[in-house]
Amino acid sequence: MHERFDVIVVGSGAGGGVIASELALAGRRVLLLEAGRHLTSQDFKRWEVKANHDLYWPMRFAPLPGGDVVAFLSGKAVGGSTTINTKVALRAHERDIAKWHAASGLTNDDGEPFSLADLEPFYDRVEKVLTVRERGDWGKCIHTAQAGFRALGTDVEPVMSYTDANCMSYGSCLQGCPTDGGKSTMNTYIARALSAGTLTLATGVQARRVLVEDTGSGPRAAGVEYLAADGCVQQARARLVVAAAGAFNTSLLLLRSGLANAAIGRHVGLHPLRLVYGLFDEIQDSHRVYPISAHCMQHQVDEDGGFVLETSTIMDPVAFGTTIRDENGPLWGRPLIEALRAYRRWVGVLAMVNDENNGSVTLDADGQERIAVDFQPSEHARLDAALDFSRRVLEAAGASQVCWTGIISTHTQGGCRMGDDPGRSVVDRNGQSHEVQGLYVGDGSLLPRTLSVNPSLTIMALATRVAMHLEEELSTAA
Ligand SMILES: Cc1cc2nc3c(=O)[nH]c(=O)nc-3n(C[C@H](O)[C@H](O)[C@H](O)COP(=O)(O)OP(=O)(O)OC[C@H]3O[C@@H](n4cnc5c(N)ncnc54)[C@H](O)[C@@H]3O)c2cc1C
Ligand code: SF4
Repeated sequence: MHERFDVIVVGSGAGGGVIASELALAGRRVLLLEAGRHLTSQDFKRWEVKANHDLYWPMRFAPLPGGDVVAFLSGKAVGGSTTINTKVALRAHERDIAKWHAASGLTNDDGEPFSLADLEPFYDRVEKVLTVRERGDWGKCIHTAQAGFRALGTDVEPVMSYTDANCMSYGSCLQGCPTDGGKSTMNTYIARALSAGTLTLATGVQARRVLVEDTGSGPRAAGVEYLAADGCVQQARARLVVAAAGAFNTSLLLLRSGLANAAIGRHVGLHPLRLVYGLFDEIQDSHRVYPISAHCMQHQVDEDGGFVLETSTIMDPVAFGTTIRDENGPLWGRPLIEALRAYRRWVGVLAMVNDENNGSVTLDADGQERIAVDFQPSEHARLDAALDFSRRVLEAAGASQVCWTGIISTHTQGGCRMGDDPGRSVVDRNGQSHEVQGLYVGDGSLLPRTLSVNPSLTIMALATRVAMHLEEELSTAA
């Protein structure tokens, strides 16, 4: 590409989609590079296996002691994981953000420990764009689960969600929303910026490395080398580069670009989760509601248990059948057939656990990625407590059988955390690399510690903050 851009953004998900579009709508010339395809509501169908192929990264795994694994899911499409996620829109708890300063010395513009108040104006802006609203329109399966929570002396409340009134509660959010009732950065931010005409979107494009040049005053980002859709290696140049390829891919991009900061790829948080299913006598149709309409926050902070339960949810049949297990291991043969025959009678609870950010992604001697997790006793205790509580909820609601999945990470965070201390962080409070000027990180990799809630709203708020800083930077330098 011969044109020189103001900014190149790698990755069009929660972080990159917001940054590229905010800057393009402000009149900047922006190139947005996305490895996935630009598919829209007209393309989305509830065809589980095809959607897995068209809209997701091949599943990644990390080994656990004893032979089990953690499975990692993320989107590969314009809109990134927001195109295939369940749209739960929660602000972080102030205790989540308080962990950030402790982890990396992160402060705000006044030099005070970074706090929830520093994100509030950006949350406001994102919520407006995404038309966030409360989902109190519960189906039968949610009331079934609620009875179990109430029997244990607690309750569930409606979630906030980025879905508008066009949501028909089909339940196919993980295959892309066919009504556009479910919002993503693809059908909001990016759609608007493309209409405005200053955003150049290149899809099917794999960024390989950030071009770094020595300008005399230290290393500076000058552009991106990428594998184009036709298989040719190309380069594009810009004044600023933003890496927003998602947790794991952003760290890998920086490592492959020759950056040496020892914190790159470290302190990865998994926000590990399990789905726990209860079998009921009556049909529940948990696959035909807006997934995750309600949640129980009673155990949200570490001191209260360190987990959040969301309900009701169930995976589509292929994923359901290939992941369901009980104390004897994966269901197989007759028990598996019976479980699948009863698909319409299961109600699911999603149990997400606070973790301690001990995951990592590195490159081995052959340049291949290696993902490691290292759960500590406190994390095992939370995982066990969350499974036990979910079981008790479903049994109290009347379930005759309870099964669950292995550990999954859909909310992977960290790897290039922001902070004031270059020894414990990769980028500064504005997202700029401590090592290479003009190189920014703008996605879930920024989070110094995992949140106790679904992270996308916070990632978009942080991305808005980075975008505002970049706009200021470009105006000053002009
Ligand atoms: C199944 C599922 C359900 C979820 N549900 C919720 C929910 O209900 N609420 C919530 O808050 N969060 C949810 N999440 C998590 C949330 O969607 C993510 O945390 C968030 O989207 C991460 O934002 P990101 O910008 O870091 O990465 P992503 O949104 O994943 O975007 C990264 C983008 O970068 C692209 N990319 C990667 N490498 C390259 C490269 N080298 N070159 C070019 N492009 C590249 C990818 O293809 C991708 O499109 C869910 C996630 C999943 C997988
Ligand atoms: S449940 Fe709503 S948001 Fe999800 S795919 Fe269906 S219409 Fe879209």
